Amino acid sequence: MQFHPEKCRIPDEIGKPFIDVDELWDYINKTESTPERVREIIQKSLDKNRLTLEETAVLVNTTDPTLVEEIKEGARELKRRIYGNRIVLFAPLYVGNYCINNCKYCGFRSSNHEQVRATLSDEELIHNVEALEEDGQKRLILVYGESPKYSPEFIAHTVNLTYATKKNNGSIRRVNINAAPLDVEGFRTVKEAGIGTYQIFQETYHPGAYAEYHPANTMKGDFNWRLTSMDRAQEAGIDDNGLGILFGLYDWRFEVLAMIRHTNHLEACFNVGPHTISFPRIKDASGLNIDTKYFVDDETFEKIIAIFRLAVPYTGMILTARETAEFRAKAIQYGISQIDGGTNLQIGDYKYHHEEEEKNSDKVEDQNLHREQFKIGDDRNLGEIIEELLDENYIPSFCTACYRLGRTGEHFMEFSVPGFIKRYCTPNAILTLCEYLVDYATPEVAEKGWKVVENNFVNVDEKFLDELKKRIERIKQGERDLYF
Ligand code: SAM
Ligand code: SF4
Repeated sequence: MQFHPEKCRIPDEIGKPFIDVDELWDYINKTESTPERVREIIQKSLDKNRLTLEETAVLVNTTDPTLVEEIKEGARELKRRIYGNRIVLFAPLYVGNYCINNCKYCGFRSSNHEQVRATLSDEELIHNVEALEEDGQKRLILVYGESPKYSPEFIAHTVNLTYATKKNNGSIRRVNINAAPLDVEGFRTVKEAGIGTYQIFQETYHPGAYAEYHPANTMKGDFNWRLTSMDRAQEAGIDDNGLGILFGLYDWRFEVLAMIRHTNHLEACFNVGPHTISFPRIKDASGLNIDTKYFVDDETFEKIIAIFRLAVPYTGMILTARETAEFRAKAIQYGISQIDGGTNLQIGDYKYHHEEEEKNSDKVEDQNLHREQFKIGDDRNLGEIIEELLDENYIPSFCTACYRLGRTGEHFMEFSVPGFIKRYCTPNAILTLCEYLVDYATPEVAEKGWKVVENNFVNVDEKFLDELKKRIERIKQGERDLYF
């Protein structure tokens, strides 16, 4: 195939596959990284421009340690300059692990008979949501295996129930979902339940590798059905999408370019890129036995995260508790905007853990891989994670304002509307932190938190500072859910 670096995409049609393996490999094989080009590209991103496939390929092909350091510094600078120091917190809630698929890397795969299967009953769901609220969570992602049990109606029901569950001052204000691809009708059903982001990971964008890990006789074996999920979600009116790659299945360089290609496709067809991107690395799972040839080491992973930050500068980036606390602390600098905290993957276990922690019991067990999807690297509770963020002067945020006010595309606005962060994001992050400090923090965390609040007044638009201070007082007096 002819290489056309000037061409950023093959023609896009809604609902049609858009990954051309040769085209992506051409970008990798025929693009050279020179110091001039790398610096020019970093600058382009710092000037608030999205990178093309060819420009991303230049960064991907950069191996000179000095230039890699410049890429990482570019990402750090972009984060500092544009996004400031908020980190959004959420928790995953696994609703059920029945699964008809047989993805080789996953503890839930149907051939894994050691996995203990469960689906939360309504009562269990309510108790787990209450336990999460009692920890201070405001944003959840509900996660499901793929099973006829988890129909769009069932998913919508669990979302509605989650929103309806309130314990003391607690409430879940944003429910995202990670579920198998639906048809357009199914997406309409879950949209009506008021989901935030619909998240689904392609796992690998390489059709050959995809076939290797997802047997053809399973639902998930259909590469194109999965690839075009977001097109159907958009058609159903869900414009808030989360893309993902599972690193370790194929060559990371190809996967990075393919995800940018997916972003181009969504922008070309729907005028809106993904709301978030995720890039989990494969972790140990019950009975896992797969080829480690494509596993990504820490050093490369840091570089990948920095490249994503520069390539899609206005997209939220999620790094989950699959990674260790140390790695997450490091990666946050390169532009991670969301992390989960207090994560517990065992179905129905938030309630149990909460009770044991309250009793100060030492019965809180280690992970049991036969009861969950994969091993996590960061099992700290939410309070510990918040404390670490505060120590680094980050503002832990549970903000859901834009989504609830219909300001969709907020990452884009943060990035492109002058003053948006000072006017909305920072004050809202501060208000949600204040709620946490009043309702859930230990005295030590609260002390650190109020200092961080004070320190960050300088990052708020002067015109709104008085009003912000009044609202903080109102929170101290018992009002909740105040936002700009
Ligand atoms: N069943 C739905 C699906 O496949 O789309 C929900 C996905 S699953 C519960 C969430 C994600 O976890 C998967 O898309 C996959 O990327 C990731 N995952 C599966 N096994 C993993 C492992 N061993 N280590 C890390 N992530 C894993
Ligand atoms: Fe099932 Fe999803 Fe796990 Fe595949 S990744 S086995 S579809 S839960």
